Amino acid sequence: MDEIVNYETLAIKTAILEKEVKFNDSFLKKLFDIIPSPMFYKDKNGVYQHCNDAFSKLILGISKEEIIGKTLYDLTHVIPKENADIYYEKDRELFLVQKDQFYEGKVKCADGKTREYQFYKSSFVLDGEIIGLVGLMLDVSDYKKALRELDEKNRLLSEISITDSLTGLYNRRYFQDILEEKVNSSIRYNHSFCFAIIDIDFFKDYNDSFGHYKGDLVLEQLGKVFKESFLRTTDYVFRIGGEEFAILFDVIDFNDAILIMENLRKKVEDLKIKASSNSSYEYLTISVGLGNIKELKKDVNPSILYHEVDKLLYKSKNENRNKVTVADIIF
Ligand code: GH3
Ligand code: MG
Ligand code: MG
Repeated sequence: MDEIVNYETLAIKTAILEKEVKFNDSFLKKLFDIIPSPMFYKDKNGVYQHCNDAFSKLILGISKEEIIGKTLYDLTHVIPKENADIYYEKDRELFLVQKDQFYEGKVKCADGKTREYQFYKSSFVLDGEIIGLVGLMLDVSDYKKALRELDEKNRLLSEISITDSLTGLYNRRYFQDILEEKVNSSIRYNHSFCFAIIDIDFFKDYNDSFGHYKGDLVLEQLGKVFKESFLRTTDYVFRIGGEEFAILFDVIDFNDAILIMENLRKKVEDLKIKASSNSSYEYLTISVGLGNIKELKKDVNPSILYHEVDKLLYKSKNENRNKVTVADIIF
C-alpha cells in the first residue's frame, strides 16, 4: 500500500517537474525571441542548438528548424565560407580559454544589407565542463557611422584650423607650431633647416591700381606657384600675413636651397603679372629672405629666428627688391 502511495507521489512530482521544465524552456525561448538582437546557442561541437527570430530571420534568412542541428559549415549557402572560417576560429578560441569573447565584424544580412555587429560570446560551463557557447550580436552600424562622421568632421575642423582660407596654404598659427617643432628637432638632432620669408613687392600699389579683388587673385595665384614648387613631405608653405609667405624646408646642401629660391623668384617674374606704374619693375615681383638655420643651441626662441630672416628680407627690399638675400643663421 505504502509503495503504491509512494509511486503515486513520485508520478505527481515528476509531472510537476516536467511541467516546470516545459514552462522554463518555453519561457526562455520566448525571452530569446523577444530580444531584438540576434542570439544563438551552440554545443561544444559547434552545432546550433537554439537561436532566436532575429538570428534566423534577420541574419540568415532561413527558419530556425533549418539552423538547429547544423554547424557553420552545413550552412554555407547562407554563411559564406570565409566568414564561417572566422567564426569557427573564434569559437575554438573561446572553447580553449573558457572566457567571454568580444569582437566586431561586418555581416551581410538576409535583406542584402551589410551591417556592423559587435559579437559578445561566452562559453557555457556546467560542473566545470564546457558544454557550449552563447552568442549575442549587437547592431552598431548607426553608432559606427556616427563615429566615422564625427572623425571626418574633426579631421576637417583641424584642417580648417591650420589653413589659410584665401590661398589654401597653411596659416600663421600652424607656421608658429611647425617653426617651434623645427627648432626643437634641430636642437635635439643638430640638423640644419631652411627658413624663407617671401613678400610681394609694391603690393599696396598693385591693389590701389587694380583693386583689392585682383589683389586677392594674385595672392591665390602666387600661393599656388609656391605650393607647387615645394612638394616634399617635409616642405611647409604658409601664408603668414597679408602678402607675406613663409617656407620651411630641408636640403642636404644649402646651395640647393639658394637655387630653389632663386628659381621661385624668377618663376614669379615670368608669370608676367602687370605691376602698378609705381613699381620699379614691369611685372609683379617678390623679395625673399632665406636663412640657413644651423647649430642651434638650447633656449633659442623661434621669434628670434623669424626676426633674423625678416632682416634678410628687408635687405632684399632695400636693394631694389626682386631679390633673394641669404645668410647662415647661427645661435
Ligand atoms: P613692399 O614692396 O615694401 O613690400 O611694399 P608693399 O606695398 O608690398 O607693402 P606694404 O606692407 O606697404 O603693403 C602691403 C599691402 O598688401 C597692403 C595691402 O593693400 C595688401 N594686402 C594685404 N593683405 C591683403 C589681402 O588679403 N588681399 C589683398 N588684395 N591685398 C592685401
Ligand atoms: Mg609686407
Ligand atoms: Mg610687400
